[in-house]
Amino acid sequence: MTIDLHTHSVVSDGTDTPAELVVNAAAAGLSVVALTDHDTFDGLSEARTAGERIGIEVVPGMELSCSREHQSVHLLAYGADPENPALAEEMVFVRDGRSGRLRPVLDKLAELGVPVSEEEVLVFVGSSPSVGRPHIADALVAAGHVRDRTEAFDRFLADGGPAHVARYAIDVGRGIDLVHGAGGVAVIAHPWGRGREQLLPRPVLAELVAEHGLDGIEVDHQDHDADVRAGLRQLADRLGVLATGSSDYHGTGKVNHDLGVNTTDPETYARLRALIVQRAGAPGR
Ligand SMILES: [Zn+2]
Ligand SMILES: [Zn+2]
Repeated sequence: MTIDLHTHSVVSDGTDTPAELVVNAAAAGLSVVALTDHDTFDGLSEARTAGERIGIEVVPGMELSCSREHQSVHLLAYGADPENPALAEEMVFVRDGRSGRLRPVLDKLAELGVPVSEEEVLVFVGSSPSVGRPHIADALVAAGHVRDRTEAFDRFLADGGPAHVARYAIDVGRGIDLVHGAGGVAVIAHPWGRGREQLLPRPVLAELVAEHGLDGIEVDHQDHDADVRAGLRQLADRLGVLATGSSDYHGTGKVNHDLGVNTTDPETYARLRALIVQRAGAPGR
């Protein structure tokens, strides 16, 4: 049983349609795949239908953009009710914030001598309900200003970078509460990737577990090296929370994140499933 709990489709910043993603997941040998597009549930019904058709289990997920001390923190939500009013309302604010900051980011890029137009960015947005930094990065690549997304982030778009504009974001503790309120299971995504150890050190993660009931930590992720993984696994065990592993697949939008490159063990997945059922209060949902 091969389980991958973190993937993106064209509905956010991936390159596969939800149905293509599920087909590719089956082809990659996965038996369970979670679709976790950024701040939207829009791809889930298409993914589920495809899953039923080809016989692979699709876990309904979402990756909520949160923050701590003005820096971005990602929170994976599993089994949350898309119709929950409190969560749905916050997600609208987050999506509007993403789109609303396009103009100021483009102004900064122009000042920095690497101009791209709104139209050039929108080409890469496709059917996604919001404009994200990866789309701007793709436009910078297409305009020949940078080689790839990584360079676009490193030089311009990363948090604190010269073209970064802060946007509306939910405090991560509140994000966990919202996910729980919607009957979902909350797992913090790649907490120590890209130098985030300082932002989410052990005592902060312990506090999120103690005060907000954080359910799990994504341990095996491409942004985590072997030492980081070992440290996080030990912490998750000590805190008694789930330690998940996932690809964070984006189709061709992110290299080295192939489906199943990291996986979650079946025992951990069984615990996660049990939590989803318990939260939903409806067995078998
Ligand atoms: Zn993420
Ligand atoms: Zn992701």
